[in-house]
Amino acid sequence: LFVDHPLGAGQPVPLSREQAHYLFSVMRMSTGGLVKLFNGQDGEWLAEISEAGKKGGESVCREALRPQVVPPDLWLLFAPIKKARTDFIVEKAVELGVRRIVPVQTRFTNSERIRQDRLQAHAMEAAEQCGALFVPEVAELTRLDRLLADWPAQRALVFCDEAEVGSRAGTLAEAPAPAAVLVGPEGGFSDEERRALTAMEQTRVIALGPRILRADTAAVSALTLWQVAQGD
Ligand code: SAM
Repeated sequence: LFVDHPLGAGQPVPLSREQAHYLFSVMRMSTGGLVKLFNGQDGEWLAEISEAGKKGGESVCREALRPQVVPPDLWLLFAPIKKARTDFIVEKAVELGVRRIVPVQTRFTNSERIRQDRLQAHAMEAAEQCGALFVPEVAELTRLDRLLADWPAQRALVFCDEAEVGSRAGTLAEAPAPAAVLVGPEGGFSDEERRALTAMEQTRVIALGPRILRADTAAVSALTLWQVAQGD
């Protein structure tokens, strides 16, 4: 379970109403039961439930199970698409181990708004489900031109360009961390965006094979290829 609280030997840790519902009503656990906790900083701890109520509870850290693991400094930048596919992208980015998820508004982005809190909660659930001890931050929706105007000099930008027909992942080995993978919306990138992206020194353009992939498939494919190229 993810908790927004310090973890350490003997440390009491409050459990939220939702966690209490899950543990005590759904899982039928009670005091003395053992749960695994992580907070994204202090590793994974085995904790014993000390209070079990309807509106919340408490547990006490007993044993350190795993040290904290932080994924390589890779961001995923993606243009939000339909809700279910956006959820899929966030979930897979957490499973594949990114540090930060940045929804970007491009010229052809379908949605102008995102529910950042909902996506952040979704990222947390995905981390719980896959045993990652790290929950990437989901940033607020940011315009692509603004992001590029402030792009950090040291961060490689892996631009997945559907117009780039060719072999997969040609230049990925030249994009070590810190890096970011950029995947466009269903409508692809505009010529102006393509010009701005390719003009940047930090950009590495990659093709993801001879077919046009849906944005969610492209995100999974590009993140995996980057990890293979970097030996992770
Ligand atoms: N409407 C565009 C078209 O027909 O050319 C397709 C956009 S595609 C569904 C969504 C995004 O996935 C693209 O903007 C790109 O970032 C990525 N993508 C899909 N297929 C790709 C490929 N073969 N190579 C590189 N990127 C790809």
